[in-house]
Amino acid sequence: MQITVFKEIVSSIAGTNAAKIVDLLYDKKNINEFIIAKKLKLTINQTRNVLYKLADEGLVSFIRKKDRKKGGWYTYFWTLNFGKSLQKFRDKLNLEIENIKKDIHIKKTHQFFICPNCHSEYTTEEALLAQYACPECGEILELKSHVQEIQELEKKIARLQKVLDEINLEIGVVTGQEEKTKKRRLRAEVKKKEKERKARKKEKVRLAKKEERAKRKKKAERKAKRKKNKKIKKKRK
Ligand SMILES: [Zn+2]
Repeated sequence: MQITVFKEIVSSIAGTNAAKIVDLLYDKKNINEFIIAKKLKLTINQTRNVLYKLADEGLVSFIRKKDRKKGGWYTYFWTLNFGKSLQKFRDKLNLEIENIKKDIHIKKTHQFFICPNCHSEYTTEEALLAQYACPECGEILELKSHVQEIQELEKKIARLQKVLDEINLEIGVVTGQEEKTKKRRLRAEVKKKEKERKARKKEKVRLAKKEERAKRKKKAERKAKRKKNKKIKKKRK
């Protein structure tokens, strides 16, 4: 994915300052908002406004930390949500394609009339009502052909579809990576639990052995005591 395409996505959602923010956040994590403001030459409030807008759309996320130097106020640290942004753009493209398809359908199923003189357009009903003479200038109306327009719209759909395919591919890659990270984290967790389980088992065995030794020692002591008592009894006899 080209970062330019990505910036287009974001600026289409939150304006040109947002595109600059993307430049700053791209491929990084937890960027201090004061640094963002300084680099963009915006006030902290302007910067936050753009970031909040992006956050509302789920395009960026933040963590916040209390800043003792700034009187205990929170400082926000921002990260770009690449996958989410791609999904947003995909939704936008899908909607656009859907709307063009509707437009084509209307153009294919409805006739329009046009005045060759003043270029006003009329629906069939309007043309019929005016008896096919332009209400504006009186010229005889002509049936308008939409063939060329429909061709243009179909070309546009093809262009958008190509971008959409690219986005879908990229979403696949990003979710694949996220999936991998998730799996890796899960595996690490299982390993950790296994290790803890083994450690607990070892500790249990150690304690059991200790207990066993203590028991044996006590038994031996009791035995020794009994022997001693017998000896004392014998002596008394
Ligand atoms: Zn006319």
